This record gives sequence, structure tokens and C-alpha cells, in this order.
Amino acid sequence: MIKVTVWNEFCHEGVWKQPNVLEHYPDGIHKYLESFLKDEFEVTTVTLYEADGTLNENAGITRELLDNTDVMLWWGHCTHHMVPDEAVAMVADAVRRGMGIIFLHSAHHSKLFKTLMGTSCNLHWRESEDKEYLWVIDPSHPIAEGIPEHVTIPMEEMYGEPFGIPEPDKLVFIGSFSPGEVFRSGCCWRREYGKVFYFQPGHESHPTYHIPEIQKIIKNAINWAYSSYRVAELTCPNVEKPQD
Ligand code: ZN
Repeated sequence: MIKVTVWNEFCHEGVWKQPNVLEHYPDGIHKYLESFLKDEFEVTTVTLYEADGTLNENAGITRELLDNTDVMLWWGHCTHHMVPDEAVAMVADAVRRGMGIIFLHSAHHSKLFKTLMGTSCNLHWRESEDKEYLWVIDPSHPIAEGIPEHVTIPMEEMYGEPFGIPEPDKLVFIGSFSPGEVFRSGCCWRREYGKVFYFQPGHESHPTYHIPEIQKIIKNAINWAYSSYRVAELTCPNVEKPQD
């Protein structure tokens, strides 16, 4: 079984207990994600905060956790700045050594995503109840397997272009919102040996992760991002001439 670690900042629905978020994710976004992933994957959850407001040391990131993670999911929004630089460096290094990672929704502004992209990762946004159509750009891509030509999301926060990312290696989904904006909603990259997927849907006060097709896309992305190849350390060795 692929080992998946779901990381969540756990503020809206944890520390702050916002009713409009708890309504959809009473045990936390990480626990909801775990609930539909655990039949197919070995799932661990880690949070930045505990529900009582305790800040976990190094955002819950340890070398042991990373060594036991094939693919990580990252959901963060308001407290990106509270994730220690050491944790960011450790996870980025694990990705470069071969761990897969999926950045969900507002994780576009996490220190970790910006580190791996090397750009601002800014976008246009509007908290609203706009309808989103999520369009499959490449139906042959493994992340789009079993997904219809578009997925209708009844309400989602608008994320619009321009999105300050490096050109994706592969664009799998484009979102279009009812007022007309469009967004590169599903993007793939390689960073050294690790695969990276950014997936836009998933605003905390809308029940987007309850939609079966969205769950299927996340499962497909985990399978795509998994690699059995992982180096223990990235090195730059001086080597002997090859011998015939
Ligand atoms: Zn949001």
C-alpha cells in the first residue's frame, strides 16, 4: 500500500472552530481526506496545530515521518508563516529525493510550494459562491482517469489567472467560474526525483472534498505521484573515469 501523509494546518476547523467549516469537516479537513483515502492507502495525518491551539514542534515534520511517506498532501491557508523554515527545507528535500506531493487549494501560497516553484505563486481570488466547472484538458493523463469531460462544483472560491507559477510540465485541468474567470486548476511538475501536483478545488467553507469525482482525482494524483525510487541523500560526487 502507498503510504500517504495528510498535512493540515487545522486552524479554521480546529483552533478557531468556525461553524461554516466544521459543518463540512467536523473532525478536520485532514480527517475527512483520510476517511475516503484509507481504504486504498496507508494514511497518516499530521497537523500544524492541535485543536486546543498547541503548536506542534517543527509543524509535525520529522525525518522518520518523511522516510515513511510515499506521497504527502498539504492543506494550509492562514498560517503558512508559522511553518518553520526547517520543516519546509526537510519536506522540499524529501520531494527532491523522490517523495510525491500534492498541494491542495490555498497551499499555493505555502512556503513549501513557493520553495519548490521558485516563483510568487500569486493568483486572483474572490471568496464567493461562484459555480466552477473543472475541465479535463488531457483525458489520457492518469490523474484524469475515470473523470468525465468536466466536473461541476456547485460553489467554490474563485481562483483566477494570472497564476504566478513556472510553466507546468503537464496541465491536466482548467477551472472556469460562473462570472467567466479561468484558472490552471490541475498542474504537474517534476522537481528532481519527486512529482508535484497542484489541485485548486477545496475551499474550507464549501463541501468540495465531498464530491466523488474530486475524491477520485485526489486518489489518481496519489497513484501518479508515487515513486518507488528514493535516494537517502542528494550528493554531488567527484568520480573516477569510467573503465572499459
Ligand atoms: Zn480558500
